[in-house]
Amino acid sequence: MNLATFRMSENFYQQTTKAPPTTFDVSLRPPAFSEFIGQEKVKERILLMLEAARQRGDILDHVLLSGPPGLGKTTLANLIARAAGTQMHTTSGPQIEKAGDLAGILTSIQKGDVLFIDEIHRLHPAIEEYLYPAMEDYRLDIIIDSGPSARSIQINLPRFTLVGATTRSGMLTAPLRSRFGLINRLDYYTIDELSDIIERSAGLLEIEIHREGAVEIASRSRGTPRVANALLRWVRDFAQVRGAGVIDRENAAGALGMIEIDSDGLDEMDKRLLEAMIYKFNGGPVGLNSLAVAVGEDAATLEEVHEPYLIMKGFVQRTPRGRVAMPAAYKKIGATPPPLKPDDPQTSLF
Ligand code: ADP
Repeated sequence: MNLATFRMSENFYQQTTKAPPTTFDVSLRPPAFSEFIGQEKVKERILLMLEAARQRGDILDHVLLSGPPGLGKTTLANLIARAAGTQMHTTSGPQIEKAGDLAGILTSIQKGDVLFIDEIHRLHPAIEEYLYPAMEDYRLDIIIDSGPSARSIQINLPRFTLVGATTRSGMLTAPLRSRFGLINRLDYYTIDELSDIIERSAGLLEIEIHREGAVEIASRSRGTPRVANALLRWVRDFAQVRGAGVIDRENAAGALGMIEIDSDGLDEMDKRLLEAMIYKFNGGPVGLNSLAVAVGEDAATLEEVHEPYLIMKGFVQRTPRGRVAMPAAYKKIGATPPPLKPDDPQTSLF
C-alpha cells in the first residue's frame, strides 16, 4: 500500500469538511472530560464555565474552538453538550446556504442545546449577519419576499450555546469573534500526551502495546490525535501480520517506515513541499499559491494541515514576503544551505 492509498483509506487528515468519522474514530472518541487527554488549559476554562453556568442555573455562553484538524474540537463540543446534559446539533459553515437553513436548525433546538458549527469561518457573510442577533438576543430577523413587499419577521429562539470550530481563526470576522464568551486555541499535543492517547486507544481496540511502541507512533503523529489513531490502526495490522500481534518500538518503526512516515512525522507531501521550496524557489521567500502549484496540492490544505506543523517543527518560517525554508529543512532533505549575502532577506532568519 502506498501513502496515497493509505491516506484515502484512513481518511488520514480528515479535515473538518470531510465525510463523517469512521466507526473506528467514533469508538475512540473520549466520552468524558476525564478521558480527554491534554489541552489542560482549555479543559480547565471550559469546566469552570460549565460549573458557573450550573451554579447559576443558566445556559453556557458561546464557545469558539480553533486549531488544526484532528486536535479534538468536535470531541470537545460533544463533551460540552454531555456535561451540560443537553443535545448537540451539528452543522458546518458551508452547509448553511440560505437564511432558511439557519432558521430551520435554530427553531428545531431545545433550550440549552449546543449548536456545533464546524468550519465556522466558511459561513456565508449574509448568514453571519443573521447569526449575530441569534447569538446575542436569541432572535432571528428574517426578511421575506423582495422588492416593495419585502418585510422582516422576527422569530424568538430558545436560548442555546453555539460552539464554533475553525481551522482558520484569522479568517473569522471581528463581529463574529466578539460574540463568543470564550475563545480557545487548541495546540499540538506533546509526545507524552499522544502516547497516552495511543495507549488508551489500543486498550479500547484490545491490542497489546509497549510504551516504547506508543512513543514511536506518537513521535510520528504530527502532534495530532486523529493521526495517532490512524497510524495505530495501521501499525496494528502490521504487527498482526509481521509480528506476534504486540506493538513494540521495532514493529511500530517498521510499519511507519513502510508508509514513508519519517521519524519527525513528515510525510511525502511535507517533503515535497520542502524540496520545492529549496530546489525550485531557492529556499524562498515564496508565496503559498506558487508552492501549491509546484507540489500539486490545494493551497488551503497546505496552509491548514502541512504548514502549521512544518512551522512548529522549525522547518519553515512565515515572513511578510512569503515562506522561507530554514536550515532544518535543508538538513532534512540533505541539501546544502546557500551561502548568505549580507543583504539577503533570509540572513536575519539564519
Ligand atoms: P477536530 O474536530 O479538531 O478535527 P476531533 O474532535 O474529530 O478533531 O478528533 C479526532 C479524533 O481524535 C477523535 O475522534 C478522538 O478519537 C481523537 N481525539 C482528539 N482529541 C483527543 C484527546 N484529547 N484525547 C483522546 N482522543 C482524542
